[in-house]
Amino acid sequence: MTKKAVLMLSGGLDSTLALCILREQGIEIEAVNFVTAFSCCKLESLEIARKFGAKVTTVSVNDDYFKMIEKPKYGWGRGINPCVDCRIYMFRLAKKLMDATGASFVASGEVLGQRPMSQKFHQLEIIERDSGLSDRLLRPLSAKLLAPTLPEREGVVDREKLYGISGRSRKELLELAAKYGIEEPPTPSTGCLLTEPDFADKVRDLFDHKPHYERWDFETLKVGRHYRLGPNTKIILGRNQEENLKLELLNARESILLIPESFKGPSALIVGETGEAAENKAMELILQYSKLGKSSPAPQARFERRQSGGRDFLSWPPAGAERNLESLRIGGQ
Ligand code: SF4
Repeated sequence: MTKKAVLMLSGGLDSTLALCILREQGIEIEAVNFVTAFSCCKLESLEIARKFGAKVTTVSVNDDYFKMIEKPKYGWGRGINPCVDCRIYMFRLAKKLMDATGASFVASGEVLGQRPMSQKFHQLEIIERDSGLSDRLLRPLSAKLLAPTLPEREGVVDREKLYGISGRSRKELLELAAKYGIEEPPTPSTGCLLTEPDFADKVRDLFDHKPHYERWDFETLKVGRHYRLGPNTKIILGRNQEENLKLELLNARESILLIPESFKGPSALIVGETGEAAENKAMELILQYSKLGKSSPAPQARFERRQSGGRDFLSWPPAGAERNLESLRIGGQ
């Protein structure tokens, strides 16, 4: 066996420590950092990885990742986070990298019992088995509590220099961080939107209403307040200037963007089936979240409408507009 490993580098403290432990044993590290539409890498940790001489590759997940979220074999956590399936998905990709680079095993910063959704003993076993990494998945932080893996038995890794950490306490991890000179250990948050209940509501709404979703649909979920008008129509309202700009970038073939032209207020993206009724409701929502909409008597307003690269203007009030659309809202943010 070669003294080379692929390390799953999430950007958190645990995987950074796993890196330090293996580098200390002279193991060459090919680190891989996975980026999904719902989480991103932590740049500080990538810097640490480079400092410890690891080559870091960032890999974006494919579109089949979304199908996995919709129908996970092992279920969801408190949001719509399919953590066990997600880990299996990523470890399968890591195995491909292991085979392609001539590495002997895959390592991760998983800690037995630390995360209730994916790091209980039986979950670690499932992840190892279903990813095709049986006997070749090393968890240096908890290794002494788990069966010896092939690289340990073959002497590629010295098991005596690995650890037997378990549970949710960060005490031992922080002591190790100090030992390796990590002055500002990354925070323990997953940074994954799928764990957030409000975001999970939006994802479920998408699965319920759009069987042939695309990556673009998931990108829209990360921006604004969402209102469902009907099975095929949704309005997204920007919550600040940054989100208004993001909505401009997201405005695509399946959408229309309305921007207040004669006053200050949020932009609204109409997604799916558009038409006069949807536009009237989008204008109503924009006014509801602007100062002008609270004025009396009822305001006059102009909106820019952008669609398929073209632009024109709409006027308010139209005939028959409704008020109080909060009951249409998806999620709480
Ligand atoms: S928290 Fe998100 S990225 Fe992490 S394992 Fe769960 S689903 Fe995957």
